[in-house]
Amino acid sequence: MSVDLLSSPLVYLKGVGPQRADWLRKELNLHTLWDLLYFFPFRYTDRSVYWTIADCLPGPAEIQLVGKIIAIKEVGVGHKKRLVGTFQDTTGLMELVWFKGIQWVKSSLVLNEDVVLFGRISEFNHKKNMTHPEVERKEDHQKSPVKGLHPVYSSTEALTARNLHSRGIAKLIKSLMPLLEGKVPETLPMAWLSRWAWPSRESAIREMHFPTGLESLTAARNRLAFEELLLLQLGLKAQKSARKKTQRGWPFPVVGDYLNSFYKNILPFALTEAQKRVIKEIRADVFDGSHMNRLLQGDVGSGKTIVAFMSMLLARDNGFQACFMAPTEILAQQHFAHLTPFVEAMELRIALLTGSTKSAERQSILEGLADGTIDFAVGTHALIEDRVHFKNVGLAIIDEQHRFGVAQRAALWKKNKIPPHILVMTATPIPRTLAMSVYGDLDMSVLDELPPGRKSIETVHRTDANRLKVWGFLQKEIEKGRQVYIVYPLIEESETLDFKDLMDGFESIQRDFPSPKYEISILHGRMKPADKDYEMQRFVRGETHIMVATTVIEVGVNVPNASVMVIENAERFGLSQLHQLRGRVGRGSDQSYCILMTGYKQSDESRLRIETLCRTQDGFEIADVDLALRGPGDLLGTRQSGLLEFKVAQLSRDHQLVHLAKMSAEEVMAKDPLMQLPEHAPLRSAFTAYARGKFKWGIIS
Ligand code: ADP
Ligand code: MG
Repeated sequence: MSVDLLSSPLVYLKGVGPQRADWLRKELNLHTLWDLLYFFPFRYTDRSVYWTIADCLPGPAEIQLVGKIIAIKEVGVGHKKRLVGTFQDTTGLMELVWFKGIQWVKSSLVLNEDVVLFGRISEFNHKKNMTHPEVERKEDHQKSPVKGLHPVYSSTEALTARNLHSRGIAKLIKSLMPLLEGKVPETLPMAWLSRWAWPSRESAIREMHFPTGLESLTAARNRLAFEELLLLQLGLKAQKSARKKTQRGWPFPVVGDYLNSFYKNILPFALTEAQKRVIKEIRADVFDGSHMNRLLQGDVGSGKTIVAFMSMLLARDNGFQACFMAPTEILAQQHFAHLTPFVEAMELRIALLTGSTKSAERQSILEGLADGTIDFAVGTHALIEDRVHFKNVGLAIIDEQHRFGVAQRAALWKKNKIPPHILVMTATPIPRTLAMSVYGDLDMSVLDELPPGRKSIETVHRTDANRLKVWGFLQKEIEKGRQVYIVYPLIEESETLDFKDLMDGFESIQRDFPSPKYEISILHGRMKPADKDYEMQRFVRGETHIMVATTVIEVGVNVPNASVMVIENAERFGLSQLHQLRGRVGRGSDQSYCILMTGYKQSDESRLRIETLCRTQDGFEIADVDLALRGPGDLLGTRQSGLLEFKVAQLSRDHQLVHLAKMSAEEVMAKDPLMQLPEHAPLRSAFTAYARGKFKWGIIS
């Protein structure tokens, strides 16, 4: 038997015929013996602990009870037919229910004999019951070898019907074990295993399926999770060093007059320490002719724009143009309006280029960019169209990067002979572990400090029953001279309905806040850009009191006098979206409020989202909850999410292991980048196999 044996199809295993193999492939994507070996339990239950009917609680955990089944009867007819048993222990009675396999269950149950029940408690009509419990005679139970921790494998209905429920799968794996002996190649250096007291790979796999104790199981799990995280880190590191080696960048050696005079004479506030640090990091990147590919993370309102702008000045000081790309027209306009006075004070030129730029104006902008008389361009996707030529662009800023795809970023690279330096900025923080794992090939800066004087935004949850009070509160705020946002969800899948909601809402708001005492703006994606702009400007100038909008205002929009954000149907928004929306208020000196409106009923998940938002304003903390709720694939979209398909590791809880993996990968790369030392031999072969499948060795991230 060789290692190859483990690559054999599942039919090679005793107990798996062609049919079962087919089902395992279809239902669980298991093809080979390896796949089965790496199909780990998703949970363990402790079979040494017994509960009583009085103590046990409904929930997802499988628990066990000891007692007797004292009665059994068939109830109902047709598809409603079920078998109902009465179970008794020292503390009371409980119903057991079977919907399937009734005849078989009925014939196999023995009444009035001590049995052990195993299953989940649920509640029905305020009474506890157990559906489809496993029943074992107490005598057999005590003889059975499974003591203590007991693996639970996920299965499916189709597999269960073929006796491949958790226990059936456990049986298969058990028959696989003897084939393993000495066949699982080690991946980690011996020195590491002893450093962290981890088992060999082979024993770790065995321990996962047949745990001998909590401590050894934890060590096994950590070891296997670490291995996955390490391979990913090594891949990212290799990718990054390949990029650094091959990719030259424009050197920006000078800190010149523009940046200095802006800093000394124009910048209207003192930079935060974080902003200073990040500007230094950027300078170090672009100083010597290596190429910058940097991700700037910062919470809403942490002041990313000014950091971006100062980097643009640095480019200009070195004789380069710079461009600043935003995901929406509104946002591009706003950046343009914000930066123009600064730029003009320095007698430089800036242009705004979007889809709705008029053609005569566009022509002159295109000429100005091509002949270098325009220094800076702010805009939307319009900036990367083929007809846009720069004389010499040295830096490209991408705001709210999650809205742009790889192709769009690639287009930016082509705007000069040597690609411009790239600074991408996130809308909301990405959980640190996730950022470390996925963006490991980018350099990263974090603005982890808000400018001084920010008031916290009081966030509350209200339901429709409180609407009158909420409206009264809005009126008071408006009387004080403040402005208010009311945001409705508009989700693509249910766009027509959502649009109707928005319009109905708008009408009733107009009724409750009549003109001329109250003026109302409305903003949604179906409006023409010019109309959007008009409405937005009215609100910016303070001519309207209320802005009724969809999430088009989600990113970036800055109206410091707006102090209340009402979010309708808040349960339908994701966490980071809610956080972004809330970030539209609290930008001035006034106390600000965010009111999350939901229906009376909510799912557990939406309740958690809303509680999280009411509890904290820290974007990094919110991002962590989001990661736990949604999983990494969902957070990132499809971008390299295949990299994150782990069998054991869980980014949302393995913070420490991610960190350890990162440090270890750095250690290996520093000492032995090609992994040629004998001690790294196992690592190298594992990495080669891994990288072949996972990485597209592109340089653009
Ligand atoms: P974001 O990081 O969300 O893009 P912005 O760059 O829009 O944040 O900054 C939010 C607001 O904070 C802007 O009005 C900006 O002028 C202001 N700001 C930025 N940095 C500072 C600072 N160091 N001190 C005071 N205000 C600042
Ligand atoms: Mg911003």
